[in-house]
Amino acid sequence: MFVRQYKVGVILFMTGAVCRDMSLAVPEPEPGTIERGCLDVTTLPTGGTEVVPYIVANGATDGPTLWITGTIHGNEVTGMAVCQDVIHDELLEGLAGRIVSLPIVNPAGVRRNARRSYYGGDDPNRKFPDVAYVEAEADPEEAVDGPRPPGQQEILCRRIFDSFADDADVLLDMHTASTGAYPFVIQDRVLYGRGLRDEEEARSLADDLDDLANAFGLPVVFEYPPEEYIDQSLQRSTSGSALNQAGIPALTVELGQHNVVETQWHRQGVAGTYRVMELFGMVEDPGAVFPEELGPFPEPLDPPREGSFRRYVGPHVEVPGLLRHQVTAGDVVEEGDVIARVVSPEGTERSTVRSDHAGWVIQRTPGVAGYENTAVASLAVEDDGDRIGTPPEEE
Ligand SMILES: [Zn+2]
Repeated sequence: MFVRQYKVGVILFMTGAVCRDMSLAVPEPEPGTIERGCLDVTTLPTGGTEVVPYIVANGATDGPTLWITGTIHGNEVTGMAVCQDVIHDELLEGLAGRIVSLPIVNPAGVRRNARRSYYGGDDPNRKFPDVAYVEAEADPEEAVDGPRPPGQQEILCRRIFDSFADDADVLLDMHTASTGAYPFVIQDRVLYGRGLRDEEEARSLADDLDDLANAFGLPVVFEYPPEEYIDQSLQRSTSGSALNQAGIPALTVELGQHNVVETQWHRQGVAGTYRVMELFGMVEDPGAVFPEELGPFPEPLDPPREGSFRRYVGPHVEVPGLLRHQVTAGDVVEEGDVIARVVSPEGTERSTVRSDHAGWVIQRTPGVAGYENTAVASLAVEDDGDRIGTPPEEE
């Protein structure tokens, strides 16, 4: 199903309705220098251009290229601060390789402190290229017509994708999760088959991703299983598309709650980025390059419990009512534990919502209105630890 929806856009690029070379002019500063500025990403109907700010550092010696991206969800601002603060003058001296940092990937969302952009109301982190776009880029003759051309947000996502796909050796996409959320990193399953890659290549990429996820220093939580992953269009997130379409080891980093820069998780985000740079041989001692104004270099954050866990949204409300959570982020839960009580508007007991899995609490769902099947929490639940998977067949 998702194969077809891309192709019309490709045809349009070929016929000149939209420029086919989608890459942005990301600078390559001289070795040992930093460049700051803004990339024009489109012309605004009301005048001027939409811009995405950048900070690019080029080390004195050669090495890998790390991309870090922030605020693809406009209210997830701790990630923006991480992207702004990773690059500083003292980092340059011992830096091997290049860092491309984009603190504001969704400027329209940041302006109104909203998750989505306002061009068409899309979730930008579900609009990155899917496998079909990548296939059509490789072989435009194979492109077939589809029902609608890509909208503004999807075009911007393609421009960013085309810019990192041939440039990044590793990508970190900074997010926040929800009210009072426990920080973690999301490790996507590496998909194989459907022309993406074979199983052996998937295992090799998954090994690289394991190393990356474990280096960051926050609890690692696997993404939803493949069927749910595709159903939620997460292969079209920034990191999902970098990993599964472009084959770049990539993580989604979740740094606590929305709307304000949270000092302690901001610090962990910067520290985790340096730990990743150490893994890739870009810096020797991550603690030595940690910005002084952020305080001491933090220890990695331990997971609430040992084991292999995946993201899970639930448990769910059966009897509607008002929620009183009985757990908080970071709590360990067993199957059958009460996650929330459901009360009537007058305060009398209606029911309880119990955990259907063992694991730990990532976050409570914000809001007290419990409708039928409202998820009361997000949990990290026990997982078989499969790091690769096949996408379901197209419909
Ligand atoms: Zn997000």
